[in-house]
Amino acid sequence: MKILITGGSRGIGRACVEYFSSLGHSVAFIYKSSFEDAKSLTEKTGAVAICADISNGPSASAAAFAAISKLGGVDVLINNAGISQIKLFSDITDDDWQSVINTNLSSSFYISREISKDMISRKSGRIIFIGSMWGKVGASCEAHYSASKAALRGLTFSLAKELGPSGITVNCIEPGVIATDMNFSLSEDVLRELCDETPLGRIGEPTEVAALAEFLSSEKASFITGQVIGIDGGFAI
Ligand code: NAP
Repeated sequence: MKILITGGSRGIGRACVEYFSSLGHSVAFIYKSSFEDAKSLTEKTGAVAICADISNGPSASAAAFAAISKLGGVDVLINNAGISQIKLFSDITDDDWQSVINTNLSSSFYISREISKDMISRKSGRIIFIGSMWGKVGASCEAHYSASKAALRGLTFSLAKELGPSGITVNCIEPGVIATDMNFSLSEDVLRELCDETPLGRIGEPTEVAALAEFLSSEKASFITGQVIGIDGGFAI
């Protein structure tokens, strides 16, 4: 299969690039600024790296076209690129809001719009959004992040209905706390509290999210669409 992963240079996206590549799939990934990470990943996996800021519409569309051209089409799109920010609601500036919404939500719209045209023409495809459990239950001091992730649920439901007749499945994965750079700024105490609040008593690994994405991309998941699947150790039950 031909797989496109956004935000592939680090964290969950990187685990997806490694996972799909190890299974022999052709993989392209988009990243914004982590040049060294992207270089080491292409050397390790043979995946194609595309540098673009996909929070910007024209740049995202160009990156999507580059991926279609380099892979010869896209069978599976994993919309994973994202940023987080912890701020009191009243302190969130217009720029903060736009930055989080454009990176987490609009990028998924820009990329999915272009890639879905390719999928529709071939009457098959898989689109996966990486949401967050905070899009389900809301996170205090992350209103813009939670809003961006909740909106991905709506995009999932809508696209599943619209693209289903074209043979395309659309699903959303909602991770809980996963061991990536995104959480490196959290103190040990906060991380311990999050583990304590998680029924399974630990945080998750990026490879666990990659394995779920691989399942949703496989033949085994061919009748699953419009679903939001949590992978959070039971945190957001
Ligand atoms: P991460 O380690 O911080 O990696 C984020 C990735 O997104 C990087 O590859 C980064 O590229 C890319 N990216 C960010 N902004 C971009 C832009 N404007 N254009 C292109 N690429 C961009 O994050 P992560 O923890 O793996 O998170 C991945 C996804 O999972 C995010 O959507 C996040 O919200 C979601 N998630 C994470 C957790 C968690 O606990 N970690 C939990 C729930 C959901 P560069 O490095 O090149 O900038």
